[in-house]
Amino acid sequence: AIEFENALDMFRAGVERDPDGVALQYFDGSITRRELDELSDALATGLLAHGFGPGDRLAVYLQNVPQFVIAMVAAWKAGGAMVSINPMSRARELSYLLKDSGASVLLALETLYDEVAGDVVPDTDVRLVLTTSALEFQTRDDERLFAGVTRQRHEGTTDLLELVAAHRGEVPPPVGLRHDDVAFLTYTSGTTGVPKGAMNTHRNVVFTAQVYRDWVHAGRDGAIFGVAPLFHITGLIGHVAVSLLAPAPLVLAYRFEPQVVLDAFAEHRPAFTIGAITAFTALLNAPGFTKDHFASFTSIYSGGAAISPTAEQNFLAATGTQVHNAYGLTETTSPMTVTPFGSASPVDPTSGALSVGVPAPSTIVRIQDDEGRDLPLGEIGEIVAEGPQVVAGYWGKPEETAAGLPGGALKSGDVGFMSPEGWVFIVDRKKDMINASGYKVWPREVEDVLAEHPAVRESAVVGVPDEKRGETVKAFVSLKPGATTTPEELMAHCKERMAAYKYPRIVELIDELPKTVTGKILRRELRDGGGAG
Ligand code: ATP
Repeated sequence: AIEFENALDMFRAGVERDPDGVALQYFDGSITRRELDELSDALATGLLAHGFGPGDRLAVYLQNVPQFVIAMVAAWKAGGAMVSINPMSRARELSYLLKDSGASVLLALETLYDEVAGDVVPDTDVRLVLTTSALEFQTRDDERLFAGVTRQRHEGTTDLLELVAAHRGEVPPPVGLRHDDVAFLTYTSGTTGVPKGAMNTHRNVVFTAQVYRDWVHAGRDGAIFGVAPLFHITGLIGHVAVSLLAPAPLVLAYRFEPQVVLDAFAEHRPAFTIGAITAFTALLNAPGFTKDHFASFTSIYSGGAAISPTAEQNFLAATGTQVHNAYGLTETTSPMTVTPFGSASPVDPTSGALSVGVPAPSTIVRIQDDEGRDLPLGEIGEIVAEGPQVVAGYWGKPEETAAGLPGGALKSGDVGFMSPEGWVFIVDRKKDMINASGYKVWPREVEDVLAEHPAVRESAVVGVPDEKRGETVKAFVSLKPGATTTPEELMAHCKERMAAYKYPRIVELIDELPKTVTGKILRRELRDGGGAG
């Protein structure tokens, strides 16, 4: 059963259960649940006073800072929704997201306002700009929590904490948020097209927070650490929403910086995190890493990008903790399939893929052919999902909604299959398939084989134009610190282990693979020539 009508009621239940518990930990500063309630009350009242109200959108353009969570709860208290914007977005992207979402309020980091947002805002529907500093809340200072000290200010903007201080002690009138009201407008990153705003409803959010608590054991044994960026659906649900539900402290560290993250692990001893395997790999390769950094964790999940069986084993060997695999999209409000806590995902003997888990509760996963017909177990086709976590549609895009979510079922764009025992395996993204002389080659399979080579840190396999074959298989490979090998050796390694049409004919060694902030390797950028060097 879905335990709350909306995510605000979910938050309030947590405040009632543990008012003095830490809600947010940011370096040496912490905010209790009651303080989060008071700060968001004041901000919500301030927003209402500026004309923001039910159905309106508040955009946040922030790193992983406490203000993100304060703004989220405040937007709900005022009856609105939050639009979370990737802080890496530049002017053109920010402008698109603000215009597409029709946000009327923007909360931005001062630095991002200076560099990017200041020029963009005049051209949008944004009527109120709030700015804030990343240094706020870094230390515990009760005096300043509501002090409204005037900070560096820009014309036409209001300091977030000044607005909060002006409305201190005020409580917004009750709002009746419903199951189907939008809680978040979350934009797909656009790695496969124009970014679309997925409408994550309150039902979606409460349901998936429960999945994280009950199936993933997030927030059960202590603090949650925010490895993933908060703006992304993994962060929104797997960090923030579940920390409100559990309730459990959420530890934030501004952005993913391996050394800083390891220090924060040592300091705050978190019990759960989820992130892309690329982030965990960076932690294991960071100077000073020891097994003890992971000693406090009881549950760790990898999600958002493929993880090879080799990477899973390396992680266990290096940390002593098993990493579980979970799969989801922005459109499934994070989890669609989950490896239940404590179980080990099987590896498919044919494709070599590590399972992404079994369908989450109340979730139906189908495998379909190009005509939308269900395929039998074991056959490869597009993964399609139905369930309480699937979004109702894309904001302002009825055609894309009809195409991507026919009859309310989500077409994932991922190709995979399901074992007779119900484990789901991803072969790859449909659009990443390589067609070499008519043979289908799936990059992920080649990457998994490359991962078995001791010198390989990460790899990305793409199809490049080839006169004879149409496309040929090319691998970009980065090596572990201090490791040496040659393209020829890596080709031979693959050739020995896979069918002749699959092994890479071209291998290029590069220092660092291009990635999104969510840890996805940008294969398209490499294919289009961005990876030379
Ligand atoms: P866009 O849809 O615009 O390209 P995006 O890829 O960033 O944006 P997300 O919702 O962030 O969209 O990512 C979802 C995709 O991530 C899935 O479709 C799948 O390809 C990949 N993915 C997520 N989890 C896993 C996993 N555990 N294993 C393999 N792939 C995964």
